[in-house]
Amino acid sequence: MWQDFHAQLQALDEKAQKRKLRWTNPDGCFVWMDGKKMFNLASNNYLGLANDERLIEASVQAARKYGAGATASRLIVGNFPLYEEVEAALAQWKGSEAALIINSGYNANVGIISALAGRDDVIFSDKLNHASIIDGAILSRAEVKRYRHNDIDHLESLLKKTDGRKRKIIVTDTVFSMDGDIAPLYELVRLKEAYGALLMIDEAHSSGLYGEKGEGLAHHLDIVEQVDIHMGTFSKALGAFGAYVTGKKVLIDYLINHMRSFIFTTALPPAALGAIQAAIAVVQQENERRDQLRKLSVYFRTKLQSLGFDIGASATQIVPIIIGDNERTVQFSRHLQERGIAAVAIRPPTVPEGTSRIRFSLMATMTKEQLDWALDQIALVGKEMGVIK
Ligand code: PMP
Repeated sequence: MWQDFHAQLQALDEKAQKRKLRWTNPDGCFVWMDGKKMFNLASNNYLGLANDERLIEASVQAARKYGAGATASRLIVGNFPLYEEVEAALAQWKGSEAALIINSGYNANVGIISALAGRDDVIFSDKLNHASIIDGAILSRAEVKRYRHNDIDHLESLLKKTDGRKRKIIVTDTVFSMDGDIAPLYELVRLKEAYGALLMIDEAHSSGLYGEKGEGLAHHLDIVEQVDIHMGTFSKALGAFGAYVTGKKVLIDYLINHMRSFIFTTALPPAALGAIQAAIAVVQQENERRDQLRKLSVYFRTKLQSLGFDIGASATQIVPIIIGDNERTVQFSRHLQERGIAAVAIRPPTVPEGTSRIRFSLMATMTKEQLDWALDQIALVGKEMGVIK
């Protein structure tokens, strides 16, 4: 009965693609992994807010006031008063008509896309979009046209070939999670307008980091009104958990009525909502965290490049070094871990075949000295393994 499953796992193991869970325990810019303290170059806690006392205290207070669990879905009796307060603050922060909190980024993408698109519609999705976007598109039963990564000409050729009467949705990550590069949002806006499509952006890795108050990349580029569906998460730079969608009131009303991953799941625990509320307040005030992260990111990218590493098109706090072969990438990450750096090998199917990599991600609370130390270790391993000269 289970033989086939065993065989499939064995096959993954032989390709150095088998994953296993490890015990981890975050500790500021460090993380304990299997009992060893390591410098954490692998988390999405970009602004260091996951450990912020204000978020922790807000979580505790919300749990005390409303309990440990929400007891039901929001449309039943799980819509406790904090939701209204936080969604109002969210809409204000994002400058949108309406806002909805969703249980996670994964749930958000799967639910939004499958609610908005159906059998007769066409979804245009960047080839490197997050798995949750891909899954939402599959679930929608719409026709899915995947365009080459950030390739506007390819997207335009696909749009041209599509029946003008069909509903069209273009979906893209703003900052790509495994490459750290940025979508060409101005061009996407031009195409969505030229071809009458809706544009949905996933700000999972840009919320909190761009814009005057950390609203996201659409604000930074001043294209808020042109983007129809703004999705983002509270689980990364905002240090909490959960996700959001913002836009017109009709969008939010529609989702409340059609989005299955919203309708058929228990509301977030109050503690999560408390942390979200504090995170939205903190992130608007503390520009210095964003500035610091940007400075550290430029420094780290420049140094890695000058050492001779291939960092692809990274332009953000997410910086891969692309190694290619699975086995060598796993070895690279092991050597870094031996030297005290938590660095994770990212392999297919998360990234395309032949592009296995170490994905580094930085935190605003790191120091330049810590990065210098890490860069020395990375350079040593790179030389030892012949990845750089
Ligand atoms: N979108 C993108 C681009 C992501 O990278 C992620 C998380 N890795 C998600 C959505 C899912 O978000 P969450 O972890 O909150 O489910």
